[in-house]
Amino acid sequence: MNQIPVKDVTPKKGNGDKETFDLYAKREHIYVKYYKGFFKNFRIISGAIMLLMFYGFPWLQWDGRQAVLFDLPERQFHVFGMTFWPQDFMLLSWLLIILAFTLFFVTVFAGRLWCGYACPQFVWTWLFIWAERVTEGDRNKRIRLDKSTMSKDKAVRKGAKHLLWLLIAAASAIAFVGYFSPIRELVPNLFSFELGPWEMWWLAFFTVATYGNAGWLREQVCIYMCPYARFQSVMFDQDTLIISYDEKRGEKRGSRKKGADYKAQGLGDCIDCGNCVHVCPVGIDIRDGLQYECVACGACVDACDDIMDRMGYPRGLVRYTTEHQLEGKKTHLLRPRLIGYFVALIAMFSAFAYTLYSRVPLEVDIIRDRGQLYTTTPSGLIENVYTLKIANKEQNDHTYRISVSGIDGMTLVSEPVVDIAAGELLDYPIRLHVPPSDLEKPNYDIQFTVEAVDATSIRVTEENRFIGPAPSR
Ligand code: SF4
Ligand code: SF4
Repeated sequence: MNQIPVKDVTPKKGNGDKETFDLYAKREHIYVKYYKGFFKNFRIISGAIMLLMFYGFPWLQWDGRQAVLFDLPERQFHVFGMTFWPQDFMLLSWLLIILAFTLFFVTVFAGRLWCGYACPQFVWTWLFIWAERVTEGDRNKRIRLDKSTMSKDKAVRKGAKHLLWLLIAAASAIAFVGYFSPIRELVPNLFSFELGPWEMWWLAFFTVATYGNAGWLREQVCIYMCPYARFQSVMFDQDTLIISYDEKRGEKRGSRKKGADYKAQGLGDCIDCGNCVHVCPVGIDIRDGLQYECVACGACVDACDDIMDRMGYPRGLVRYTTEHQLEGKKTHLLRPRLIGYFVALIAMFSAFAYTLYSRVPLEVDIIRDRGQLYTTTPSGLIENVYTLKIANKEQNDHTYRISVSGIDGMTLVSEPVVDIAAGELLDYPIRLHVPPSDLEKPNYDIQFTVEAVDATSIRVTEENRFIGPAPSR
């Protein structure tokens, strides 16, 4: 059997054991105990905001269409009145880099805040834990229920739990697919059995994925699958806010009667009640020190504060603190790495905001006719032919005026005004004529300008070349 030593356990009870674990050990089910407290309320508020946004955004309307819709067949992404095309992919890359830097910044400052309060995996896990408690009862009841033989009560409770889990998972899948397929058509079509095959597939897939991840896998997703859990510790320093047990104050741990002079018995403030372990959704004991499994949810802080209140001891035996603070040293909130991340973040965010603000919802590509460099018309003019690919990236129809410049005497032969519907791409052939007497060299840089007639701020100028015969001397 493969066994490896994992850590030296501080000899808190005087035995100095070396803990080992079996690589193929069966996962122990975690029965999370109900608790109350400040950090729980904070987590409920942040989770509720996130769930409200996730379920609500697909139902919002903006300018008569779904406010957030990633229309993959049309390759258009509508976000609150703005339409992004695949050509705007650079903006998405910028946004992802900014989000990554925000995560680094927050992690250096306050550890795994993201995991504890905003990560979808844990927001849904807490939702599923709530459903478990509603249907099967709190921790001790659930343990007894799992140990008991099958009965009508057990079957009803287990059935209700899985039904509730499946309902939450299905609602989440509908909301998710609703970001890609208009939700106001998706839902009626679902109930009238008129969904297309890909919508059916993705609804089934996300229902099963949510049910499996939040109902069964839970902390294993964080421990074994999430890359952030693995690399976040390298961003920690001794001034990073972490949730920690104050060993100096808590040890030697042990039970005692309320009001007893425990210090005279050589005991610390930890009454060894195990509450901090019973509320932990990843099943670790915070008293063993900082562990990479810890998602910084604050449950152990709330649970221990509650015990401290009941015992009449000061709160904060388990608390948000820093390694420096625990060692009795000064904590430096402003430090070079944090300032560096902050400056980089501000610079990137400003550049992103400026690019977004100054973005013109019009795309013009010019393709020169590759068949012939130029032709001569019956009236002796030099002709060049182009195709203008004009994309109206707005959610309104527009009329555009096309003009050219760069050579005296150049005329645009084609109709200079075109109508393009919202979100449409038009291939528009253009012919330009120049009298040979105006050409002093064989090729010229010329400019095409396309401008919305009703909104002159929507204007794009692109360069191309006009080619003619070499002038005769
Ligand atoms: S909840 Fe507090 S008192 Fe109870 S075991 Fe944990 S650290 Fe000790
Ligand atoms: S140790 Fe505390 S903060 Fe960390 S996951 Fe467990 S309960 Fe949450």
